[in-house]
Amino acid sequence: MKIETRLAQAGNRQDSATGAVSMPIHHSTTFSHPALGQSTGFDYTRTLNPTRKVLESTIADLENGTSGFAFASGMAAVSCLFELFEPGDHIVASNDLYGGTYRLLEQILKRKGLTTTYVDTGDLQAVETAVRSNTKCIFIETPTNPTMKITDIRGCSAIAKEAGAITIVDNTFMSPYFQRPLDLGADIVLHSGTKYLGGHNDVLCGLVAVKDEDLSQRLYFLQNSIGSVLGPQDCWLVVRGMKTLALRMERHNENAQLVARWLERHPLITKVYYPGLDGHPGKEVHEGQSGGYGGMLSFEVVEESMIEPILANVKLITFAESLGGVESLITYPARQTHFDIPKEVREAYGVTDRLLRFSVGIEHYQDIIEDLAQAIEAAKVGVKTNED
Ligand SMILES: *Cc1c(COP(=O)(O)O)cnc(C)c1O
Repeated sequence: MKIETRLAQAGNRQDSATGAVSMPIHHSTTFSHPALGQSTGFDYTRTLNPTRKVLESTIADLENGTSGFAFASGMAAVSCLFELFEPGDHIVASNDLYGGTYRLLEQILKRKGLTTTYVDTGDLQAVETAVRSNTKCIFIETPTNPTMKITDIRGCSAIAKEAGAITIVDNTFMSPYFQRPLDLGADIVLHSGTKYLGGHNDVLCGLVAVKDEDLSQRLYFLQNSIGSVLGPQDCWLVVRGMKTLALRMERHNENAQLVARWLERHPLITKVYYPGLDGHPGKEVHEGQSGGYGGMLSFEVVEESMIEPILANVKLITFAESLGGVESLITYPARQTHFDIPKEVREAYGVTDRLLRFSVGIEHYQDIIEDLAQAIEAAKVGVKTNED
């Protein structure tokens, strides 16, 4: 069946005893054994929980994988994945990686002997050059956060295979509705389910899907051994959110296109990063691997002095971290999501002190644009424009 159908039906027909359409939440941490040496399939909730199992098989199905894993947060999922590697192993990663992943690699995993080389993974030649004999993983985000750089998933996966490494794709920005990396050769796909999959800014979650049986066994062992699993109540919230993913992604995508085009024409906006804009580098590669452009964009204002008043003056749009929910959110990467990345490093790839990141919600696009317009207008005092 089509993805819209599979999404809407997630969790239905799980309880044959009652016929509940909305799946039950199994809070039980433990399950009775019918007899010595027998099990219902469920023994202890960290190992397997019926509500979590529905979420895990749903993400596996949506990503065209065979197994799924649900974690307490996106970062819990990322850190569990890095346990696949040994001290002395090397990782090649996108250079404008999610700030939390960068912090984990640089401030925690480096101490444990795992080293990372950051490159523009949009440049396959650079990826190839960065690969060493001990490289075990290519870790990519596409589009990246926040400058929306595109990486060729097929190309990276081919380089990884050649090197005997695996490819991990953080697919948070596109969601499985628009992009399915396992189909393109990636070995592991990862989500912060906190974002589009949950979709309502009310639940933290990490999700992983794989299609290889050996990787699946290793991850099952790690998930159970480390124990950073998602609780049953939160699993239910994520499944409930996912039911409307198709509708939400379509609207996010439409709204973001309209907002991006409006921003592009604004005299006080010097740059707009959105893969759906003509002239976006990587637009073609993106279109070859994704069914839409998503709801995330970033833009640069002409002067840093405008940042504070814009954030103070937005009324409909909320000045808050995170992304992917139904409500429009705006953030300032230099001081928030990318604060842990040295200034020279982040500026080198476009995260300047004039950049704002916008998670375009599902409100009416005219209301969103009107709010942006009045906030930019209020911030304009003293700024020289092209019109002056
Ligand atoms: C938010 C985010 C994460 C981390 O997820 P949490 O659920 O906040 O732990 C990882 N990658 C990307 C791209 C994200 O946006």
